[in-house]
Formats: sequence, structure tokens, C-alpha cells
Amino acid sequence: MATIFSRIAAGEIPSHKVAEDEEFYAFLDINPVAVGHTLVIPKAEVDYIFDIDDAKLGRMMAFAKRVARAQEAAIPCKRVGLAVMGLEVPHAHIHLIPITKESDMYFGGAKLSLTQDELAEIAARIRKEYK
Ligand code: AMP
Repeated sequence: MATIFSRIAAGEIPSHKVAEDEEFYAFLDINPVAVGHTLVIPKAEVDYIFDIDDAKLGRMMAFAKRVARAQEAAIPCKRVGLAVMGLEVPHAHIHLIPITKESDMYFGGAKLSLTQDELAEIAARIRKEYK
């Protein structure tokens, strides 16, 4: 059965898309720890990020870098932090999080409660800066 993230990349489940190319898809995390919290996934299903072959992992990181540049331009922050856990969804994903302080990347606490309209507006802002 396809993972929820495969279904998002295929457009079967709605998401707030930030960017995409042939191999990768970026969209807002539905329970963000910070404004602009984005997930980058490979369209082809793989659970564990370190099972991705070196060349593709390099392309995934280059794609994430372009997304991060767009986040930096769109969201007030000091830099974009990167995390990989994958304990919840068995489809490799990189968390890209605009941060100004260390605690902005704390995953164990309360998440931001943003409306769908707010998420749509944030995604549009990042999308506009994606090159
Ligand atoms: P983890 O697998 O531990 O890296 O966490 C999975 C992340 O995916 C969490 O931050 C969730 O909020 C996020 N997530 C789960 N389902 C969705 C969804 N349908 N759309 C966007 N983000 C999601």
C-alpha cells in the first residue's frame, strides 16, 4: 500500500506544495514546529533515507537546498535547520525548518496551530521564491 506521502506527491491527498521536480516533492508539514516548516520527500517510495543511493541522496540534498533558499527569502529567520527522523511516516523525508533560535527545532512540544488559509499563504510565499 502506498504511503501517505506517496499519495501526497501523486496529488491524491491535498498538501500545501512548496516545490517539486521530477524526483522530489516539498510541502508544508501539517503540524509545524515553526512557520514555514517544510518536508522534502522523494516521489519514489523508500522508508529509510540512508537506503537511498549516494547520487540520488545528493540530488535530494541539492533540491532541499533550493527549497531552503526560498524559505530564507520568504520567512524571517536566521537560517534553515534540517532534521531527519522518520519515526512516524515510513517514507523518507527531510524536515526543513526556518529558525532563529535552537528551541525553534524542538519536536517534543506543542505544535503551531495554523489555519489552512494561513498554511496556504505561507506555502505561496515560499513557492514564489523557489528558483
Ligand atoms: P517523522 O516521521 O517523525 O519525521 O514525522 C512525520 C512528520 O510528518 C510530522 O512532523 C507530521 O506532522 C508530518 N505529517 C504527517 N502527515 C502529514 C500530512 N498529511 N501532511 C503534512 N505533514 C504530515
